[in-house]
Amino acid sequence: MTGRALDHVGIAVHSLDDSLPVFESITGGKGHGRERVERQGVEVVFLGSGDGKLELLAPTRDDSAVAKFLAQRGPGMHHLCYRVGDVEAELERYRAAGAQLIDEAPRPGAAGHLVAFIHPKSTGGVLVELLQAAEGH
Ligand code: ZN
Repeated sequence: MTGRALDHVGIAVHSLDDSLPVFESITGGKGHGRERVERQGVEVVFLGSGDGKLELLAPTRDDSAVAKFLAQRGPGMHHLCYRVGDVEAELERYRAAGAQLIDEAPRPGAAGHLVAFIHPKSTGGVLVELLQAAEGH
């Protein structure tokens, strides 16, 4: 393998219940790992396995980042998530390069993984999530 694996593509939706059947039809798979991440004001569900999964994100409150994204841009592609060995070290690499970070330190994401987001201003207009897999994943 060369380079980092694309763990998943995040898609912002208004409602998981409404959108999940659409993406199950597209991917031919069933949604799994549905979980509310209260700190982020978001509920997520995944489709697929291994590299290149889809993550559907719906807001659980109006002041969440995903709610603001939906209000400004409507549903659609929200972020790319790359799997890294050491999210702290990756953050430091971006910081040293002068990138604008959304998370100054890694934080818990869905499924207990450690995650951090890099601002789209520093990544070609695309929100980038870095994910360090939890032990056992
Ligand atoms: Zn994600």
